[in-house]
Amino acid sequence: MTKITAVRACTVRIPLDNPTTFATRKVLARDLTLVEIEADDGHKGIGFTYGGSSGGGIVTEAVRNLLAPVLIGEDPFRVEGLWAEMYQEALLQGRAGSVMRALSALDIALWDHNARAAGMPLYRMLGGFQKESVRGYASGGYYLDGKTPEDLAAEVQGFVDIGFDAVKIKVGLLGLREEEARLAAIRDIVGGDVLLMLDISNAWKDIETAMRFVSIYEPYDPYFFEEPFSPDDLDNHARLVQRTNVPVATGEIEAGRWRFKEILEKGAATILQPDAICCGGITEFRRIAATAASYGVSVAPHAYHEMHVHIVASTPNATFIEVFNDDTIVNFRRLIDTQPVVEKGRVLLPQKPGLGYDYRPDVIAKYAIDPWA
Ligand SMILES: [Mg+2]
Repeated sequence: MTKITAVRACTVRIPLDNPTTFATRKVLARDLTLVEIEADDGHKGIGFTYGGSSGGGIVTEAVRNLLAPVLIGEDPFRVEGLWAEMYQEALLQGRAGSVMRALSALDIALWDHNARAAGMPLYRMLGGFQKESVRGYASGGYYLDGKTPEDLAAEVQGFVDIGFDAVKIKVGLLGLREEEARLAAIRDIVGGDVLLMLDISNAWKDIETAMRFVSIYEPYDPYFFEEPFSPDDLDNHARLVQRTNVPVATGEIEAGRWRFKEILEKGAATILQPDAICCGGITEFRRIAATAASYGVSVAPHAYHEMHVHIVASTPNATFIEVFNDDTIVNFRRLIDTQPVVEKGRVLLPQKPGLGYDYRPDVIAKYAIDPWA
């Protein structure tokens, strides 16, 4: 039997080149917890999670002090059993938030190890569905000081020029007329065929405010409204689903299959956006996606296409992968040595074993605020 011999974690803090704003937050830097497991078969596995724009060390502590002891000496191929044991160990501190993020990172590392040991790319280990590539949408359209609607439209056109037919932008920060001007400028330049997703980033507080904006946005044919309200305000999500023909998407910071079931039962979303780095890893993502499928709901995971490409490729009801084209907003990619290839708006399935990349020790040394231990 294979045994896990070591579990390590480190915290990196990567500053954003341009501090970035969306409706509810300004982001100056990103904390990430990286994990690595080693097994006595000579293979390792890597995982990671986002720990927030500060305080990411909490996640690293949870890996080292709470969950690593559960894994040491155990068989990395017994993924379901280890998931259940980590979950049980974390019952008081975890179930969502930093400790579930720690569990998620370790679960990803288990899957990465197992696929490396099998010598196959992770999407095949997971029971591949797609054969060559997955459809992406370009994610951008953030607010920056001095950025005009025309600048925004040029940015969206830039995504279309490199082959994307679906683009997501941030909305929800400005007043009605200014927000309308942004959408009008985009439709003026890209036309009506490009799918345009709108991320409200939890900005709306009540249904009456929401409906004022919805009526402004609807004529511009949005593909979905993302995170319109606080993630805990499921009732208003459900009201919005009833009041607009535009699909409502949410779930990027939710954890655990039970929470997603609640969203589905309340009719609070028509698209789920789980993120394997926080929902409970790849193992829990698959349970969530399977539950959604039985409700006739599709999933479109949040960010980190370097990892989600494998999951989308092996999930029949996954529709899109979110692609950030550079590292100005989501900067995880700086830490890895091989980037997935994006061609004509699609992410090609990586062919190296496991996730298909390793960490870059030089870059990690540069950004580490708490080194490997
Ligand atoms: Mg989002």
